[in-house]
Amino acid sequence: MDIVDLHVHSTASDGSLTPRELVAEAKAQGLRALALTDHDTIDGLAEAIAAGIEFDLEVIPGIEISARHEPGSMHILGYFLDYRSQLLASRLQVLQQARAERNPQIVAKLQKLGMNITLAEVARASGGGQVGRPHIAQVLVQKGYVASFQEAFERYIGNHGPAYVSKFRFPPQEAIALIRAAGGVAGLAHPFTLEYTSVGHLRHILEQLQSWGLAALEVYYPEHTPERTELYRQLAKELGLLMTGGSDYHGDIKPEIRLGQLGSGQTIGYEFVARLKAQAGEGTKA
Ligand code: AMP
Ligand code: ZN
Ligand code: FE
Ligand code: FE
Repeated sequence: MDIVDLHVHSTASDGSLTPRELVAEAKAQGLRALALTDHDTIDGLAEAIAAGIEFDLEVIPGIEISARHEPGSMHILGYFLDYRSQLLASRLQVLQQARAERNPQIVAKLQKLGMNITLAEVARASGGGQVGRPHIAQVLVQKGYVASFQEAFERYIGNHGPAYVSKFRFPPQEAIALIRAAGGVAGLAHPFTLEYTSVGHLRHILEQLQSWGLAALEVYYPEHTPERTELYRQLAKELGLLMTGGSDYHGDIKPEIRLGQLGSGQTIGYEFVARLKAQAGEGTKA
């Protein structure tokens, strides 16, 4: 089998499997390579790389950085990072600090709305890694305040919900520059979440990101309709961006998502990894 997955989360952010469990699962599913792309953190990468050696599966050190963008959200993926980079670790601490300040604010808003929920419960739900809104959603489900994970976002903590609190994000050029400075290749995740108003608008955003060093576009993704996939494929071709694809696997948090399955039976093969690898390190050249 020639299947790779270039977008996966572990307990280092909001996935339910540890990096080692994730690699073991990918191996059991017959994948050939896996990129660990936790939100705003590289804390899971050393364990994932070690597990890759243990289970004989190629692990690509990655990240998914939330960047500043209105009205939707912009997530920048990074691949083939030097995960021992001190610069990367110290810049990412700014984002972790922002989360540490934001989580109690969200919990306080939920308490004001009459819900009995504590930060300690949310921290427990995170399993020791970085805490995010999905963990808050889990607690709301467990305590019966909402019937589903999705409802937690729709009624309370989604970007337009009454308990939403925004957090500090890097401007896109900074997210891209940081990935490139760490030897990585930067790509745009799930383009539809940009909430662009037209194809021209999307093209404009992509060209701007490209001028800052963006090299890839996530074309294959479970939530992309066939029409969107085709549009993104065309744009990648037109602009000279590499194509990537990933499941955005989170384990139990999103149980319908399977490793390596990119929607409508679609999978991608190792050539996608090889093309990214050929671009790695470009950002550190003079
Ligand atoms: P955070 O990083 O704490 O802001 O949480 C963001 C994560 O929450 C995203 O990566 C998604 O996994 C999840 N999320 C955000 N908005 C929604 C939504 N409307 N429905 C379901 N999950 C969402
Ligand atoms: Zn996530
Ligand atoms: Fe994302
Ligand atoms: Fe993701």
